[in-house]
Amino acid sequence: MKSPDSLDVASHCARASLAMMERHKVPPHPENYAIWYAYVAGRNPELTAAIDEILRSGKKFTAKVNEDLYERFAVFPQDSVELREVGMRVEEAVGRVLEFLSNANQGTANYGAVLEDFSGKLADGPSAASLTELVASILDETKVMSELNQQLEQRLENSSNEIARLRNHLDDLKREASTDALTQLANRKLFDHSLNLAVLDAKASDAPLSLLMIDIDHFKQFNDTYGHQLGDQVLKLVARSLTEIAQSKDTAARYGGEEFAVILPATPLEKSVEVAEIIRNQVSTKRLTNRRTGQVLGQVTLSIGAALLNEDDGADTLVHRADEAMYLAKRNGRNQVKSEADLDRGAPPLTK
Ligand code: GH3
Ligand code: MG
Ligand code: MG
Repeated sequence: MKSPDSLDVASHCARASLAMMERHKVPPHPENYAIWYAYVAGRNPELTAAIDEILRSGKKFTAKVNEDLYERFAVFPQDSVELREVGMRVEEAVGRVLEFLSNANQGTANYGAVLEDFSGKLADGPSAASLTELVASILDETKVMSELNQQLEQRLENSSNEIARLRNHLDDLKREASTDALTQLANRKLFDHSLNLAVLDAKASDAPLSLLMIDIDHFKQFNDTYGHQLGDQVLKLVARSLTEIAQSKDTAARYGGEEFAVILPATPLEKSVEVAEIIRNQVSTKRLTNRRTGQVLGQVTLSIGAALLNEDDGADTLVHRADEAMYLAKRNGRNQVKSEADLDRGAPPLTK
């Protein structure tokens, strides 16, 4: 990730991009703002070339042109952490500018008051029509300045709101991009990312890191018997159990189809097997019924494998061992937990 701009740079870019957008009649929507901020900050040479070309050709920034630019150069979710940081910086910078402007505004108001006072005295004095006129015109000038100042303040406040909206929008994008739509658990992409981070953390802190791989038993048969929709309900039910049992430091994810995973930082292997047992037990003791028909659907069971990060591991080898342990649980009769410690002991071949 690129380091965020300093406050000065961000503040400069914020003002410069808003000024350019105004000059070229580009509405300050969050999307447009993101593009113009990136342009002013010189973030992307291709974006710079594209906008420079439009400016050179004298073409207008129509809604279509703006949309095209956004399509081509918008920052996609994987970069949103960076953009968010930039957004926060810009917001901070605009906040500062607002503060400055409001002080300036106060100064202008004081200046106006002094002048008013002065003009009052002059008006009371001997006829000094020309002087009074001069003072009146200075007052007019002051008023104009103050109005301009207010307009500017309003505009900056608007842009600050826009930036805040942009940040929320990016947060939403990020959440959607990393969440499994059916179960609301972390999706595979977030799982991979979280596991990589957890591996780095564990190695840096020398804390144990365990991983559970979880697979629903005979799920194809369940789908074939009761239909895919009820199958989906089962996936949600398993996900709920995982969410309930996982602690805030843990990451429960949908790994794929009917497979789940739980990353357990600061957890030794024996403890992870206990957690797995709690999960297995909770799911297998749920009574499943079809709410619509009242039909009893029987039991859903899980096979779970547990592995512990070792010195030579990367995320992939850790997943591989937890998977192996999970398949051992399958081979051993399903509805059970096995850990990598059981792997060497051998097991009967897999049967359906
Ligand atoms: P095993 O005990 O060996 O794991 O048997 P299994 O039937 O669970 O495993 P298999 O890999 O043969 O089948 C997995 C099934 O999971 C097949 C597929 O229909 C089902 N499945 C995968 N994703 C979804 C989903 O999103 N919704 C539903 N309803 N079913 C799914
Ligand atoms: Mg499977
Ligand atoms: Mg299965």
